Amino acid sequence: MDFELSAEQSALIGRMREFVDRELLPLEPAFLVEGPAAVLPQIRDKRARVKELGMWAPNHPREYGGLGLDLVTHGLVSEALGRSPLGHYVFGCNAPDAGNVELIHLFGSEAQKARWLPPLVGGEIRSCFGMTEPGNSGANPLMLETRAVLDGADWVIDGNKWFTTGADGSSLCIVMAVTDPEAPPHQRASMILVPTDAPGYSHDCNTPVMGNRGEDLYSHGEVSFKGCRVPADNLLGRRGEGFKLAQYRLGPGRIHHCMRWLGICERALELMVGRARHREITLDGRKLGDSDIVKAFIAESAAAIRAARLMVLHAAWRIETVGSKNARDDISLIKFHVAGVMQDVIDRALQLHGGLGVTDYTVLAWFYREERAARIYDGPDEVHKIAVANRMLRAPRA
Ligand SMILES: Cc1cc2nc3c(=O)[nH]c(=O)nc-3n(C[C@H](O)[C@H](O)[C@H](O)COP(=O)(O)OP(=O)(O)OC[C@H]3O[C@@H](n4cnc5c(N)ncnc54)[C@H](O)[C@@H]3O)c2cc1C
Repeated sequence: MDFELSAEQSALIGRMREFVDRELLPLEPAFLVEGPAAVLPQIRDKRARVKELGMWAPNHPREYGGLGLDLVTHGLVSEALGRSPLGHYVFGCNAPDAGNVELIHLFGSEAQKARWLPPLVGGEIRSCFGMTEPGNSGANPLMLETRAVLDGADWVIDGNKWFTTGADGSSLCIVMAVTDPEAPPHQRASMILVPTDAPGYSHDCNTPVMGNRGEDLYSHGEVSFKGCRVPADNLLGRRGEGFKLAQYRLGPGRIHHCMRWLGICERALELMVGRARHREITLDGRKLGDSDIVKAFIAESAAAIRAARLMVLHAAWRIETVGSKNARDDISLIKFHVAGVMQDVIDRALQLHGGLGVTDYTVLAWFYREERAARIYDGPDEVHKIAVANRMLRAPRA
């Protein structure tokens, strides 16, 4: 098996990684201590520079100004950008816009594409995705209660959503709503494009999450639809296909997330090694890295990252060769496994930094807080484990 990257892949990923390290890591101290607003002007400049350098929107279609990378290459890019909490936004491939663009590109009408894709891919506007509801189990989206009813030429939508990431400042919300309550469970819901200035739509507040009160992209909004009216042709894809589209959205999206998490792991491991190499722990100058326990932290982290990386790249290759549906076990396995690896690696790095580890003077505490949710969103660990195990238990015996 050939693990060599092509010359183009290596060159692009090398340039991106260098940009992240040289241009974005220096913004981190202000970002972490003062909040995202403190570095917004610099972030705008960096985004412009990324566009000039021809590295903008790596995953988005070429015809809309992206680089149109295949899934494996974008996975590698995602890893390079994951080293900084700013990477994906500065390069125009942040969630949830990335998944939303993909949905509109694949399932949108020509009019929907013409209206939304140029400003979304260009990074002029942002979008959000509203599926989870405060009153119902998000792990089982069949329990959705938000309703959309056709009234003349309009959908009228009623319901509440939360954890609508980036709703604050978004121009578009793709909402998942029940349109056919009597249909079989998986055909009850549809996706509808709701411009955030539509009558009856409201972004009510940002939910405080792990001490983060939320600011624009780095926020999770609570939004409501009260008799919210949008034209009937704002339906995305076909009526009753909401779950199909949601499944589609999550396949490639999980590769992006998992590779981003591996970028975070590598950064945490670098910090771990740096700390172990330099921190003196005895009067005679012994370093943390002289401890066998610390050596085990480092080696176990390196092995877990290496194994997880191979798993994710293999899953990306499977999605591209056999499709998301046939690769669903591969996708579930990486989703919970890599989230767990990331949590362990960040935790070890933080532990070796002692008190400093829990301050915002390194990026570790940010990663520790923000990325804990990786084991919950896009399907909690338990749901993925149960799904994989059920398929194995039901499979014909060899
Ligand atoms: C940071 C973050 C960002 C998010 N962004 C978005 C977004 O942009 N848009 C959006 O629509 N949603 C978003 N979500 C919501 C996310 O998808 C849900 O939180 C997730 O689906 C879990 O749903 P829930 O919170 O209702 O938990 P519940 O469904 O109530 O589940 C609670 C816990 O119970 C356990 N559990 C659930 N089902 C089972 C089972 N069958 N067997 C065993 N254990 C089980 C799991 O441990 C789970 O964590 C986000 C969430 C977070 C934390």
